[in-house]
Amino acid sequence: MSTDPLLNEPTGDKNAAASAEVVFLGTGTSVGVPAIGCECDVCTSSDPRNQRTRCAIVVRMQNGNLLVDTPPDLRTQLLREKIPLVHAVLFTHEHVDHLYGLDDVRLFPFRLGHPMPLYCERHIEERIRRVYDYAFSDREPTHPGSTPQLDFVPITHDRFQVLGADVLPIPMRHGPHFNVLGFRFGDFAYCTDTNGIPSESMKRLRGVDTLVIDALRFRPHPTHFCVEEAIEVIDEIRPRRAYLTHLCHEIDHETVESNLPEGVHLAYDGLRLTIDLSAE
Ligand SMILES: [Zn+2]
Ligand SMILES: [Zn+2]
Ligand SMILES: [Zn+2]
Repeated sequence: MSTDPLLNEPTGDKNAAASAEVVFLGTGTSVGVPAIGCECDVCTSSDPRNQRTRCAIVVRMQNGNLLVDTPPDLRTQLLREKIPLVHAVLFTHEHVDHLYGLDDVRLFPFRLGHPMPLYCERHIEERIRRVYDYAFSDREPTHPGSTPQLDFVPITHDRFQVLGADVLPIPMRHGPHFNVLGFRFGDFAYCTDTNGIPSESMKRLRGVDTLVIDALRFRPHPTHFCVEEAIEVIDEIRPRRAYLTHLCHEIDHETVESNLPEGVHLAYDGLRLTIDLSAE
């Protein structure tokens, strides 16, 4: 593995091995910003930070690139951020805006030499098998790569390892009918698509340095935190820095960012953060 030129720069430094980079591929709500046909100030803004594709991150670790969710914008996101290869995929939940770009991983098994590992809960696997039924057909493929080569790695609410890194799932509510997982990687936690974090899960977020959290808009919403609710959670967890994501077109980057409390920021497409995988 370590001789693969497509892996991230290996170093002999123990601390460097523990540091990773988070790349925000997308930070927008399910329809994206601009919203098709909308002529509001944010949707017509020339500020690139107001252009938000659907939510995903890549965690660039020494042993490879871990993609969290496969939104419909995946191909353009990976090209934009110049990420040539994904080594594993991890899913927060099965909503369309987090899943329907999965076919875009079709090239990677050629370069990896094995199917793409998909880390997800059983009910997400079932959904993927239904939606991407052509990838699981018994029929002999007409040519290599005609369908995505996918391998499931089931996860639960217990800690697990992916690409050599420890991941702690953060079970959360996402409206009345859905549960999602946030994930903690060392001193960093990614908690999108939620409007309720149970107390057991709040314990799992204790001591995080960087928290990414859902904040759709200013008014409350049935399945997402609004800005005020997200700030209440941030006040309880008290990370050094927090980033709001899954933002809709009510959020103008410049004006909202300048009014947020100290240490709280808006995420934007292309934002990169350095995190420490060893700290927890
Ligand atoms: Zn979403
Ligand atoms: Zn708009
Ligand atoms: Zn969702």
